[in-house]
Amino acid sequence: MIQDTINIKINSTPKSRVSEVDWENLPFGKVFSDHMLIMEYSNGEWGQPEIMPFGNLSMHPATSAIHYGQSIFEGMKANRTVDNEVTIFRPEMNALRFVESCERMCMPTIPVDTFVELVRKTVEIDKNWIPSKEGFSLYIRPFMFATDEFVGIKPSESYKFIIFTCPVGAYYSEPVNVKIEEFYTRASVGGVGRAKTAGNYGASLYPARLGQANGFHQLIWTDGKEHKFIEESGTMNVIFMIDGKMITPSEDADTILRGVTKRSVIEIAASWGIPVEERKVTVEEVIEAARSGKLQDAFGAGTAATIAHIAKIGFRDEVFTLPGLETREISNKIKKYLDDLKTGKIEDTLNWCLKV
Ligand SMILES: *Cc1c(COP(=O)(O)O)cnc(C)c1O
Repeated sequence: MIQDTINIKINSTPKSRVSEVDWENLPFGKVFSDHMLIMEYSNGEWGQPEIMPFGNLSMHPATSAIHYGQSIFEGMKANRTVDNEVTIFRPEMNALRFVESCERMCMPTIPVDTFVELVRKTVEIDKNWIPSKEGFSLYIRPFMFATDEFVGIKPSESYKFIIFTCPVGAYYSEPVNVKIEEFYTRASVGGVGRAKTAGNYGASLYPARLGQANGFHQLIWTDGKEHKFIEESGTMNVIFMIDGKMITPSEDADTILRGVTKRSVIEIAASWGIPVEERKVTVEEVIEAARSGKLQDAFGAGTAATIAHIAKIGFRDEVFTLPGLETREISNKIKKYLDDLKTGKIEDTLNWCLKV
């Protein structure tokens, strides 16, 4: 196994900051664990990864990623189990997606086994930062960006790969209101929508802000050509329950991020015998279902929130209120199943949780 050959240099912090954390008031993504891992690429190869105290980076003003956007990331979570073990949820799926993002953005790849082992080590060194409180976890953020010091557009020849971690609580405290967006576009066919690359998120801020001004937490993106088909939400894939069927946009289009959470939800639902349809989903059928009371459930699926129930869907001048959360049996059951799996309350028969 390749992981035995990875030699990580470890420079651990002389003084942990973990005792300073206010666990009762833990804002998402603002508290950082003691260490980070950095691995640099130059002259056609990756250098030795190093774990070091978390801290600032110093950068040349012409650092290529800042100007031209060769920058990609991942997001996953580690949890503490009821037996006080630590597990990471399906990290090899993130490693595979990272490779896809690298390729689309002309960046050097990291082998799946190496990526997973680097993540594992970064979590291991800060395992004291993994909250045991229910609903809490350690968010893991691997990312890579171009570091050539050069003005001009070409793929960079040097890169930094970094992993840091953040203890986090729940992402959304309440169900979300979403608006179906029919003018702005997140991704277009042939573009970079399938890659988890920085610019996709920068581009979404302005339309999202317009939605927020009207009381919507998030947008539901539609296809860039006709705005006829549902794609996904901000950093979540979207799943509907219509008339007893689970329906979600297929990922054949290269405009949709292939979510690990969505894949897991679908696999669980299918294994429970729930009919699942991955296909093109029209705005019209969702609105029609909402109007006729057949839209039983709608939710976002993503690592940060796992499952974020949708309370209201805005479409043109109308707002549709979905059934109460207590009626959303299937998504509630799947959410509980995923939480129980991650925290070791049920047996991991699918082998989804990597032990740290
Ligand atoms: C990260 C992300 C998702 C969710 O993916 P997960 O692997 O489930 O976390 C969905 N859509 C977009 C645009 C994303 O960036």
